Amino acid sequence: MDSKETDSSQADEGKKDSHITVHWFRHGLRLHDNPALLEGLKNCKEFYPIFILDGHVAGVSTAAFPRMQFLFETLEDLDNNLQALGTRLYFLKGDPVEVFEKLFEEWDVTRVTFEQDPEPIWQDRDSRVKELCNLRGVECIEKVGHTLWDPHVILQENGGNPPLTYAAFNQVVGIVGLPEKPLPNPDFEGISLPVGEDHDSKYGIPSLKSLGVEPESAEQASPHGRYLGGETKALKLLLSRLEKERKAFELNLSLPNQLYPDLVGMPMSLSPHLRFGSLSIRKFYWALRCTYAQVHPNSPIPKSITSQLVWREYFYCMSVNNPLYNRMEGNPICLRIDWYNDEEKFKLWKEGRTGFPWIDACMRQLVQEGWIHHVCRHAVACFLTRGDLWIDWQKGLEVFDRYLLDADWSVCAGSWMWVSSSAFEKVLQCPRCICPVRYGRRMDPTGNYIRRFVPELKDMPLRYLCEPWKAPQKVQEDANCVIGVDYPLPMVNHKDASKECKEKMDRIKNLCKDIPHMAPTNENEVLSYMWLDKSNSGAMEESLFEACSHLSSVAL
Ligand code: FAD
Ligand code: MG
Repeated sequence: MDSKETDSSQADEGKKDSHITVHWFRHGLRLHDNPALLEGLKNCKEFYPIFILDGHVAGVSTAAFPRMQFLFETLEDLDNNLQALGTRLYFLKGDPVEVFEKLFEEWDVTRVTFEQDPEPIWQDRDSRVKELCNLRGVECIEKVGHTLWDPHVILQENGGNPPLTYAAFNQVVGIVGLPEKPLPNPDFEGISLPVGEDHDSKYGIPSLKSLGVEPESAEQASPHGRYLGGETKALKLLLSRLEKERKAFELNLSLPNQLYPDLVGMPMSLSPHLRFGSLSIRKFYWALRCTYAQVHPNSPIPKSITSQLVWREYFYCMSVNNPLYNRMEGNPICLRIDWYNDEEKFKLWKEGRTGFPWIDACMRQLVQEGWIHHVCRHAVACFLTRGDLWIDWQKGLEVFDRYLLDADWSVCAGSWMWVSSSAFEKVLQCPRCICPVRYGRRMDPTGNYIRRFVPELKDMPLRYLCEPWKAPQKVQEDANCVIGVDYPLPMVNHKDASKECKEKMDRIKNLCKDIPHMAPTNENEVLSYMWLDKSNSGAMEESLFEACSHLSSVAL
């Protein structure tokens, strides 16, 4: 071995195991496919995984009990999984910069790693921490892991702006290439993992109760069904989800969660786990492709099987350089609409007392369980805004943001803008609304969903379940539910209210013909966003399909 080689291997040796790394969990609450965590373990001699409760992290500032419960289960699971590998999660409280100042002193930290939190609301926090690292000579590594692609790369590839349509977005990601494949699990072999005897008292995860977070109602405390937080649960759920996908692929179908909404079945959605990063989006993406390839080894993999994951990316990417993305005022992509400010009506909607059983069932499930199916989200959002009540989408967003387990800052605001026709529509071509009676019947044909969440109506005959005010008095009495006494009368006449809303939308449409805001690419895209293919588009008010049909000719 010549001296040069010895020198360089000695230099490598010097570098090896030289770092004291802190990995900072915020979203990305998992051990599998965690690029930032793996980076932190390179040349690492001592390792500390931390979580800092600063009142905002992972969206806690707006979260009610269900999402907090999900988050804390996720943290408990992370702690358990770390414990199995010889360390523990360090739970800390305070402003991240102040916390890091102390940790740098106490642990002699030389490197901080974390997953990119791409939304603009996190940038100030992260810049301040990066600045501190810079000042203290601590290496700071940020890695993309919450999204399939780095949204900044997509923006760059598109000349500095987010692609305005989903089709344009797909074109750009086509140029960027397939997302990276999931990385191996972390290996802590040979790394010192100091955990003190007093870990639980000093760094243990507190109970929600001790933080003053409690259920708002008995139903919220023990709901019918609920998602359990944590990577362990997420990976199990992924397996059952993939089985469901496999069966759909065998029938030449895709998106089974959407094609056949099962509102009373076992929860099958992975969105709460994707939101907290207890499931890696890349793992889900590649597992879907792999499952498809196993079923159809000789066919190219269709984009449709991962299209919903790409919608998520699209909304993330849109929001990256738009700090006012969740607002109407000052948000360049959002139309300014003169929504009503009607607190009383808003309250009826929020509390599930509109008198439309389908809408009320959805709203009550949302508040009790923190989760509702996409078709329910669509129905209640349309009802609140351009469908019936003409109430500001930002009010609806606030409620979703409080209760939804999967409420993302960007996806939730983007979806509300879409449904309320405030953005993502080329001058509002799709102004028709969802009928809360007919759509409810379609989505809940057995009535089991409504009966579960609106127990006042549990004995109402199916025929009248979605419009119980039409049941003859005798039928109401026999069902122990007199409308107007035991359950409210409908708060609006849907026919009149939706007509009025449509007229308003038409006027807005005429006023803002040339606004270059985001738009759907074509009719199929509208239906795919709404999770309806042509065969079941009748589930929408019949006119919606026609209303959208001319979209295919819109040049974008
Ligand atoms: P799947 O069919 O399993 O789709 C896989 C994943 O793709 C989802 O888990 C989700 O991460 C993503 N996805 C699916 N549909 C959409 C969509 N239309 N837009 C963006 N991403 C999608 N989804 C959120 O993740 N967070 C939100 O805060 C959110 N707010 C919404 C608000 C409104 C008003 C509406 C109409 C929709 C909202 N959605 C939101 C989108 C969608 O309803 C959920 O993603 C979906 O219900 C999750 O179910 P799933 O996991 O079974 O979906
Ligand atoms: Mg899912």
